[in-house]
Amino acid sequence: MMRAIWADGSTVELREVEDSVLDSTTGDDLVDIRVEWSTLNYKDALAVTGKAKVLRTLPLIPGIDLAGVVESSASDAYTPGDAVLVTGYGIGEHTNGGLAERARVPAGHVVRVPDGMTTRDAMRIGTAGFTSMLAVHALERHGLTPAAGDVVVTGAAGGVGSIAVIALARRGFRVVASSGRPELGDYLSSLGAAETIGRDKLASAGRPLEKERWAGAVDTVGSQTLASVCAATARHGVVAACGNAGGMDFPATVAPFILRGVTLVGIDSVMSPMDQRVVAWDALAADLDPERLAAMTDEIGLSEAIGACDRLLAGSVRGRLVVDVTR
Ligand code: NDP
Repeated sequence: MMRAIWADGSTVELREVEDSVLDSTTGDDLVDIRVEWSTLNYKDALAVTGKAKVLRTLPLIPGIDLAGVVESSASDAYTPGDAVLVTGYGIGEHTNGGLAERARVPAGHVVRVPDGMTTRDAMRIGTAGFTSMLAVHALERHGLTPAAGDVVVTGAAGGVGSIAVIALARRGFRVVASSGRPELGDYLSSLGAAETIGRDKLASAGRPLEKERWAGAVDTVGSQTLASVCAATARHGVVAACGNAGGMDFPATVAPFILRGVTLVGIDSVMSPMDQRVVAWDALAADLDPERLAAMTDEIGLSEAIGACDRLLAGSVRGRLVVDVTR
């Protein structure tokens, strides 16, 4: 038996479930993992509260992230005792996820925890931090350098935003954090933000092209915020669209793209190819100071995970929520 958050379509609860629930994941290269840490991302909160249809099959263990130790492996790529992590690839959506004491996943979905990183730090980063690094790499791949000017991060006090601020500042970018929580100005500057602006500055519709304010952007909010960012992005600037915390719509015009050559890059962490994953995790290991990560993280037990989801959806969590699945 193992403890797991269990969603059956009518309730979501912490309970003991048979290990055999993991048999629903099939394949000939499966890896069994003793989960040590998981996390709560925005998507997990949507899944657990049922506010969006994230769970594509039921019953299911939610949790799009996990890190732990290999117990057994049908693939030669892993041996018992290896420290590993898994994010995305449909765990916690189509197949059983990380909010449990054990998990079973195909070897091709497993990433080794980089040298020098703990499984706890891996989950302090989680899908949110991984997504931030994919966004930073996308900006760089499209030629953005610190010399080009300011980079705005929206939803900056959230999980993706916080780690994007750290990673960009560490690379020498001047980061402007956009946040709806002015009281977190000190927190954002401790992460490396040079300036904080209120989220209301980007929340209302303006002209198709505004004054060129941003060389680049990491947007986690979507909707009017993303449209406003694009309208104020400088010639040949780059905007990475990561999230929809403010809405799925995109009420924009094509003007920034056809008149200023702005590039809008979409970020998909779930099905990100393995080679990009490994590069991103190595960069996260190199860039993120464990002490700073710990300072932007709250730890909760598995027994507190369901209750924390409403707080996450209300936008009142600062940084990251890490789940200790052993308590
Ligand atoms: P968090 O809940 O940790 O952070 C979201 C932040 O967005 C909040 O902290 C808040 O920041 C801001 N926000 C919340 N509600 C609103 C609103 N109504 N209008 C404007 N801003 C708002 O979530 P994550 O950081 O984990 O995820 C952020 C977004 O990225 C989500 O939409 C998520 O689904 C998406 N995502 C996408 C991934 C991908 O692969 N593309 C992977 C991971 C996440 P503040 O208080 O600073 O304003």
